[in-house]
Amino acid sequence: MNPIGVFGGTFDPIHYGHLRTGFELLQGLRLGEVRFMPCGQPPHRVTPLADAELRLAMVKAATEGQHGFIVDDREIRRDGPSYSVDTLIQLRAEYAHRSLCLIVGMDAFLSLPKWYQWREILQLAHVVVAHRPGWSAPGLGPLGELLVDRGTGRVGDLHESRSGRIYIQAVTPLEISSTGLRKLVSAGGDPRFLMPDLVRRIIESSNCYVNDEG
Ligand code: ATP
Repeated sequence: MNPIGVFGGTFDPIHYGHLRTGFELLQGLRLGEVRFMPCGQPPHRVTPLADAELRLAMVKAATEGQHGFIVDDREIRRDGPSYSVDTLIQLRAEYAHRSLCLIVGMDAFLSLPKWYQWREILQLAHVVVAHRPGWSAPGLGPLGELLVDRGTGRVGDLHESRSGRIYIQAVTPLEISSTGLRKLVSAGGDPRFLMPDLVRRIIESSNCYVNDEG
């Protein structure tokens, strides 16, 4: 069985930076699936503007019909902050023998040492890091050392073991961010061609980003 990619995020809103990255990893790493997992309460950042059900609806609309893309709403259904380690413990219990690949962008990877029980994460899953414009791989510090210890450039390593490796993947650089999109919409702009039309329609009809002051 090919590895499961676990792509967590606030997805406030989901955009083509997420979707293209997920697709390139699905194909490039020969993942069995990419599971988009919108978080309920993000532990490390301010409360999302769009509520959890709306973010989930946007993720569903964006991924519908794409073979290999799956939406997993477990973090939204769970009470309390959405810690990745809890999600991975659950997935590991469900898929005891399957390789799990936690997908993060480079910006998220750089903040990994601030995550709750971050060292446990590598006991449960591999970490796949997608390049993101404006961010570069760490050379020093705990993550630099971790990369020396755990880094691999071999896709096969992600298939042959269930957890413990870090793999950095170049993806088509798309300088799109949810923050930028919220600001654009709030200023009356049109996010066309930065996200799927179905997501645009949900944003339009819910007016969820009209009051973005951040
Ligand atoms: P915000 O601007 O609100 O911080 P975001 O655009 O970073 O949002 P998130 O939902 O926080 O979106 O991101 C989920 C994951 O997707 C993170 O691991 C992030 O690094 C990654 N990601 C987001 N946008 C891109 C992009 N354009 N290219 C590659 N990875 C991305």
